[in-house]
Amino acid sequence: MKLELERIPVWDGVRSGSECYVCDLMGEAQSDAINFYLGSSVMNPETRVRVNENGFCPSHWQMLLAANKPQGLSLMADTYLGTTRERLRDSLADLSRAKGRRSAKAAVARFAEQIFRREAGCLVCTAMEGRLMRYLFTTAYLWEQEEEFRSALLVSKGFCLHHFVLLLKRGQEAVSKGRYDAFVAEMTRLETENLDRIARDLHWMTQMYKSENRDKEWNGSEDAHRRGVDKMTGLHRVIDPV
Ligand SMILES: [Zn+2]
Ligand SMILES: [Zn+2]
Repeated sequence: MKLELERIPVWDGVRSGSECYVCDLMGEAQSDAINFYLGSSVMNPETRVRVNENGFCPSHWQMLLAANKPQGLSLMADTYLGTTRERLRDSLADLSRAKGRRSAKAAVARFAEQIFRREAGCLVCTAMEGRLMRYLFTTAYLWEQEEEFRSALLVSKGFCLHHFVLLLKRGQEAVSKGRYDAFVAEMTRLETENLDRIARDLHWMTQMYKSENRDKEWNGSEDAHRRGVDKMTGLHRVIDPV
């Protein structure tokens, strides 16, 4: 698979000193996608069809609601709910007609499957996923192709664990076959060094709450709990990344 390279954002990211520049870029991707569906594009018939068809996941519906644009949101929710009810009409009828436990259970199972299918395919998650794949691909590709990028990456703070594993997977397509093991080993060394650093900061933070350490310096560990959690889980994650 050959993806479009995202050189500028990835280069900016690697130089930013962030704990995971992929998290930062995904935050931007999310805002862009949310703003798109809050803007005038919602009135575009093609966009409306896609919204009715796919909708949004619970957290992205909530993000759209939080933006406080009731007019546009009511239009989208109106036709999305209409489409949803249309799709569910038969299984709702089956639910109300079910006779006996066995038939009721079967109707509930069919209905549940339909609901879960309806909840999948969030348009914001899908837009973010496309960008995520390009950022990861570009990172792995530039690691091999540009020595200057590789040097900058190796002195960066690495990635959150979630994006680290996705980067390793994406590297299978972006890095040539003979260098994939070197890519995995080098990225793992970078990640391990940075996990060691976070672990030291986090442990020091716990020590600072002890009375005997009252006069000691924080040494930049004041926010280590936050950085530790973010490093483990990542921010702005999409549902079911490839
Ligand atoms: Zn991340
Ligand atoms: Zn979503």
